[in-house]
Amino acid sequence: MIYACSGASDAGELADLTARVLSQRQLGEMSCLAGIGGRVKALLAKAEHADHIVVIDGCPLNCARRTLEQAGFPRVHSLELHRLGLRKGSCPPTEERLAVTVQAGVELLQGLGARTK
Ligand code: SF4
Repeated sequence: MIYACSGASDAGELADLTARVLSQRQLGEMSCLAGIGGRVKALLAKAEHADHIVVIDGCPLNCARRTLEQAGFPRVHSLELHRLGLRKGSCPPTEERLAVTVQAGVELLQGLGARTK
């Protein structure tokens, strides 16, 4: 399962777009972080049955990772966009930036056993 912080900032948007592309490429399945925060049973069940949980956070506040942790999922794999040199407030999504974040996501997911289609 893939969760993005999907924050209001440019970095949050980039995290969200990255998760959507990875999901569209069938490297994982994007699910709704808000459902985890809201303790929606059906969405918690998806996380409980996941082989791996990947979170994509736009900035060091790591809202997605923290949301999963607080919901009882401490073992997540994090893709932190700031570690790729992207800074909230100065990283409007572009094709080039999205290519960088998607590639980092592909590498993370392949390391977990996902196969590129
Ligand atoms: S991790 Fe950063 S960019 Fe993402 S929702 Fe939290 S504050 Fe916003």
